[in-house]
Amino acid sequence: MKNSKQENRQDSKPLSTSKEWKLLYYQHGRPGLEEGKEFKGLCNYCDLKSLCGLPKPKIGVWRCEHYRAKVWKKSGLHENVLKLLEKAQEANNFDRDICKIMAETMNELVVHFPVKMDDDRVRMLTGYRVQHNNVLGPFKGGLRFHPMVDIDEIRALAILMTWKTAIVNIPFGGAKGGIHIDPGEFSPKELERITRRFTFALGNNIGPEYDIPAPDVNTNPQIMAWIHDTYMSTISPNERNRSMHVVTGKPIESGGSVGREKATGQGVVFCIEKWAQDHGFKLKGATYIVQGYGNVGSWVARLMKMNGSKLIAVEDVTGAIKNKEGIDPNDLAQYVKDHGGVVDYPKAQSIDHEVFFNTKADICIPAALENAIRRDTAELLNVKLVAEGANGPTDEGGDEVLQRKKIDVIPDILCNSGGVIVSYFEWLQNKRSEFWELDEVDNKLKKIIVSAYERVRDAAQKYKVDWRTAAQIVALYRLEMVYKERGIFP
Ligand code: NAD
Repeated sequence: MKNSKQENRQDSKPLSTSKEWKLLYYQHGRPGLEEGKEFKGLCNYCDLKSLCGLPKPKIGVWRCEHYRAKVWKKSGLHENVLKLLEKAQEANNFDRDICKIMAETMNELVVHFPVKMDDDRVRMLTGYRVQHNNVLGPFKGGLRFHPMVDIDEIRALAILMTWKTAIVNIPFGGAKGGIHIDPGEFSPKELERITRRFTFALGNNIGPEYDIPAPDVNTNPQIMAWIHDTYMSTISPNERNRSMHVVTGKPIESGGSVGREKATGQGVVFCIEKWAQDHGFKLKGATYIVQGYGNVGSWVARLMKMNGSKLIAVEDVTGAIKNKEGIDPNDLAQYVKDHGGVVDYPKAQSIDHEVFFNTKADICIPAALENAIRRDTAELLNVKLVAEGANGPTDEGGDEVLQRKKIDVIPDILCNSGGVIVSYFEWLQNKRSEFWELDEVDNKLKKIIVSAYERVRDAAQKYKVDWRTAAQIVALYRLEMVYKERGIFP
């Protein structure tokens, strides 16, 4: 694995301490200023927002070095995930040997690969694929393109995948992968070459019956289509039609499933509906705030609107906005598509990070990155329910505060499992050359996620533990049974 010496156009620059930050303007593929070109000015979107003096660009995102340092800090998620495992082990006295297996990953692949940039320079990039466990079925998990990606983060996310597939009872194991890049720095053509070269570097370490990637942060159906095409181009012609299911989350025309794009958000909403039903809570007129307005966040927001609930605040990487009268989720989704983020959305007021978390609402949906709900942000929260769309959005301190404040939590490995459930449906459809209708996909998803919800709820009551520990217990129970039935080879 590479370290700080890794070749990167900006990594090696020292952080500026003056009030004038060096700004980088990323085009996001739209016409405008030259990509990667440096400017001097003040940052619009970091903590030093009040120092901003420059007119904001009409499109794209300004990011200063201070901001970059903020998003690049280590997530600590791996440590958190191992603590959760320990807590569940103690709560139900699981076999220590099985927990030893669960605490380690099976395979870890780190690849360094060259990619030609549009200006003909070659850049070395680093990618990861970590396969945690495949006792229940082929490794399964998303690919993330983000500057915070490192081996520890990918390990933690791979472990979470094993627990997620175990909770919802689908025949997959857990894996995760990613590339340590900020995709905003690259043109679409460069992103295509990066994706294809990474897929080539992974080689036979992925495969339709062995390890099946899917979209995650900053990856989408287009990127899955490039992975699919590259993988197909590297295997023998008579294998190709049998390998359609090497990746899920593909565009529908390229073998994707209807309902996959919204599936994670849809699963979150099915969980919220079940929680509301259990608590006699009316979703009509209820208010909600969403952090992250990408695939998961924007779909949760749009689907919650169909229940008559009201979106009142949103935060993403570009800033935060609020409107007590309600924000139209569809209109905001279009705005984000056109402008690259929620900042400056004209039908809401711009607010800061603390005001976002302090907004009084019924439900908070974290749907961005890990550790959003820490001790400090949890203290600010003024909601009844946290429904975790993101993976690992709450750290240990955040959990303690949520429990003290008696805020209900639907934990990530249950709440955001809709994505992997519908990925399983896509995988099955590809294997059987079938095409299911949306109703069928949604009904099957609802049945699976609601029964997983009930298993977690019942475990929380039975073992008198919080829902996160209960979810771990449900997952570990299944994994332990399988290990005990099969034994350890040889
Ligand atoms: P995405 O790239 O589509 O969207 C990510 C969103 O998070 C963007 O709106 C971005 O602006 C925002 N964001 C990033 N950094 C932020 C920060 N520091 N503060 C506030 N907002 C920030 O990604 P996605 O696919 O929607 O994934 C979001 C989360 O959901 C991740 O934790 C991912 O692992 C999890 N998840 C995704 C899926 C899926 O099917 N895509 C499935 C299960 C879980």
